[in-house]
Amino acid sequence: MTPPAAGSRTGLFRTVRKHPAGALKARTVALVGNPNCGKTTLFNALTGLRQRVGNYPGVTVEKKEGRLALQDGIQCTLIDLPGTYSLLASAPDEQIATDILLGRASHTARPDLVVCVVDACNIERSLYLVSQLLDRSVPLVIALNMVDAAERNGITVRLRVLERELGVRVVPTVASKRRGVEELKRVIGQGAGAAGKSRQWRLPEPVQRECDELIGLLDEHHQLKGPDAFDEAAALLATDTADLERMVRYDPVLRDHVRRDHQRLEFLGVDRRSVFVEARYQWIRTLCAEAVSQEPRNGDTLTHRIDRIVTHRVWGIVIFAGIMALLFQSIFTWAALPMAWIHDGFDALSLLLTRIIPPGDLRNLLVRGALGGVAAVVTFLPQIILLFLFIGVLEDSGYMARAAFIMDRVMGRVGLHGKSFIPLLSSFACAIPGIMATRTIENSKDRLATMLVAPLMSCSARLPVYTLLIAAFIPARSVLGIFTAAGLTLLSMYGLGLFAALGMAWLFKKTFLKSSVPVFLMELPEYKIPSIRSVLVQVAERAYSFLHRAGTIILGASILLWFLASYPRMDGALPAERLQHSYAGLAGRFIEPVIRPLGFDWKVGIGLVSSLLQREMFVSTMGTIYNIDNANDEGGQASLRDRMNSDRDPATGLPTFTALTAVCLMVYYVLAMQCLSTVAVMRRETNSWRWPAFQIAYMSALAYGVTFVVYRAGLWLGLGG
Ligand code: GDP
Ligand code: MG
Repeated sequence: MTPPAAGSRTGLFRTVRKHPAGALKARTVALVGNPNCGKTTLFNALTGLRQRVGNYPGVTVEKKEGRLALQDGIQCTLIDLPGTYSLLASAPDEQIATDILLGRASHTARPDLVVCVVDACNIERSLYLVSQLLDRSVPLVIALNMVDAAERNGITVRLRVLERELGVRVVPTVASKRRGVEELKRVIGQGAGAAGKSRQWRLPEPVQRECDELIGLLDEHHQLKGPDAFDEAAALLATDTADLERMVRYDPVLRDHVRRDHQRLEFLGVDRRSVFVEARYQWIRTLCAEAVSQEPRNGDTLTHRIDRIVTHRVWGIVIFAGIMALLFQSIFTWAALPMAWIHDGFDALSLLLTRIIPPGDLRNLLVRGALGGVAAVVTFLPQIILLFLFIGVLEDSGYMARAAFIMDRVMGRVGLHGKSFIPLLSSFACAIPGIMATRTIENSKDRLATMLVAPLMSCSARLPVYTLLIAAFIPARSVLGIFTAAGLTLLSMYGLGLFAALGMAWLFKKTFLKSSVPVFLMELPEYKIPSIRSVLVQVAERAYSFLHRAGTIILGASILLWFLASYPRMDGALPAERLQHSYAGLAGRFIEPVIRPLGFDWKVGIGLVSSLLQREMFVSTMGTIYNIDNANDEGGQASLRDRMNSDRDPATGLPTFTALTAVCLMVYYVLAMQCLSTVAVMRRETNSWRWPAFQIAYMSALAYGVTFVVYRAGLWLGLGG
């Protein structure tokens, strides 16, 4: 083994020199920092990947890995970690970060270099984490990010002073504009990740003395040494005296000693709980007094002025509701034209296929089965794009964080705190990231309650179902000039989902998930003009996954459905009768007795069964079966909604759908758990089948019960015809 080259001070450099060139991939660089300081943006800038960034905490809840190519062809692995304020934090996502940093994670090697991202606008708070990293002698480089925002706020940072006092390199960056990224790469490449100066902060004399004694005892009884022993001692000294009884993992002699320490410190008037945090901050404040200067501000910042209205008790909620109403309204009006184009495009395609393929099963399979199902879903692409454009702009501008802040009061009523609202907001897009985002919640009961109700929020897969039914059955009457009955119906479906989620959360928290409501501290990021790039990247990703599903699962399922709906063959029968006696019709009629009380007939039944897999399947199923059903009219396709509108049951002569059935169906889709992927994620996150099973059971019961009540009430009001 070659000895380390002279002059290489760092662990990182040694790793490079010790191994032959092939082993370089062992090098791991980790990004850490407070939530929302720009870690993921920096990660993307360094690796060229496109991880999701968001202007609120809780977006990155797992570690993400990427390859980082340094100047001289050296490659290393870069890990983006969830945000954390401290190495001693307790939420599951923060725990991931700490475990990896301290080399306690089983699957990830301890990083060779840690890049701590420091938000230049919040240096003091970020230095708390830095000081913990220094105490742990972690090889460190600091990326001082958001220097653009700091400059705008009149904050000046003297980099040299910081570097001198901390003993590590500090690189200024603007991750969102890729400024300073090359320099950071260079510094990482030089292996300039020296462990900086540790333990510069001082505890008050008596506390330090007790601490040292305790460290000695921890070594003697539990073989704990170094920083681990110090952290343990600090935790023991800060803990409630009463809690000591329950800490049976400690030797009784030790616990007795700690109890006496507590008495002595209290006699001296030391606040044991805050003394450790305070001592660090004391040092940080002294350092910042020298290294950071803040120009006196004249008056309020723009953010403050906007927030005074937007987070107002009353106006805040009015504005929130207004923005949501506008969102759903524009989904209808702005998407109408591109949706018509897509529809016409598929029309032309099916005409073309009809011309070139001779009549028969193949033509029917392709045109009526496959194309019919896929076209029905793909037509909704413009609405999906609009939805994500809106969500992206609301998130990146900083408004979503305010929405969570406003909702904190409401969440408090149901026994949860505002932190739980962010996963619920994410679930508007899809319940899967929503359930993942619950990892930011410390209290495991709160986390479970939030996960259980997240799928009640209307995800984007429900949007095509809602808008298809609304377009077909809700009159486009205008309300208050700017809104239409259609837009308001859509808004109420989203409202129903939210209301149901809050109601169920309340019920769970009142019964088997009881716990006290912790205080919620949420940071409100500054407002900013949304970055077009990051919004578009997100929209493109969502549009792609929507189309991908349409081209794979939905295409396959539509073909299968075509067979099930066309066989057994009944030549000579009317198309409607053929469908009724096909395998699919049989299945629909089999479950009809169960769904009859909800006002649904066997045709709706086919849709309900196929959308157990995935909600949009309802739309493609309707697309396919109405195509088969209307097999007499050759060529161009009447729009699906017109066909659904004029459809009558061949046996009874009653319309398959009325406005009431449409509303009942929507209510059913709001509340029912029809998504296999969500079940799989729940299984993974709760590590058991118990909770997903419970979730399916309660959501099905809720969907069935509420739909039944709505249908009965509708009939009673005379809305059935
Ligand atoms: P993370 O929580 O630390 O991963 O933070 P993100 O990477 O998700 O970024 C949070 C927000 O800060 C996003 O809206 C970014 O666009 C924005 N952002 C990131 N870096 C900078 C920067 O250097 N300057 C400014 N002004 N904004 C930034
Ligand atoms: Mg992140």
